Amino acid sequence: MAKAKAVFVCNNCGYESSKWLGKCPACNEWNTFFEQKLDTNVATKKKEKETAKSVALKNVEYKEISRISTGFGELDRVLGGGLVDGSLILIGGEPGIGKSTLILQICDKIKTDKIVLYVSGEESAEQIKLRADRLKINKNNIMFYGETDIDLIESEIEEKKPELVIIDSIQTIFSDKVDSIPGSIGQLREITSRIMRMCKEKKVTTIIIRTCNKRPETLQDQEY
Ligand SMILES: [Zn+2]
Repeated sequence: MAKAKAVFVCNNCGYESSKWLGKCPACNEWNTFFEQKLDTNVATKKKEKETAKSVALKNVEYKEISRISTGFGELDRVLGGGLVDGSLILIGGEPGIGKSTLILQICDKIKTDKIVLYVSGEESAEQIKLRADRLKINKNNIMFYGETDIDLIESEIEEKKPELVIIDSIQTIFSDKVDSIPGSIGQLREITSRIMRMCKEKKVTTIIIRTCNKRPETLQDQEY
């Protein structure tokens, strides 16, 4: 197993420190620090990347990026022509504006024979099926996975090798490497970076749903 290096992160504002602090110097909140373990493998990989050599841009060759149509002309246009293999897309919005409905319609319309994996930490298979029935969606390749543990979600993706993964929603998913509640800044950082890495490595396109309140308290001044 890789040695883990520790970093302490403020759960309220995301401030990082090498040691535990009682009071956050950035947002002045008390007892918001928790330990986040960093995998040193990531640091090693970064080092490898830093040894890259310069190349003449005019000699660089590339393959045409393959895109899959979502089945919605308007959405394809926003995405620059469709979903790119191994990309990560965030769909955010207030509760009840129809994010889950839109996602289910994408699952239905996307042109693929591979599995579309719908991961839900909020709703049951029955609730999603009810919505699918209402929308007259009954494709064979849409699979439901009701799980919130990122380790198990990753294994399921490894096994099912889906074309598209839906995470509904990001704030219900957790990693036991982070000692804070699902939806906290620490968890969101860890989960998002794990999903991002997985997308790239396994060439799986992932759509993350993020429910935002009208005035997100801790998020308004943040990058998240
Ligand atoms: Zn803070």
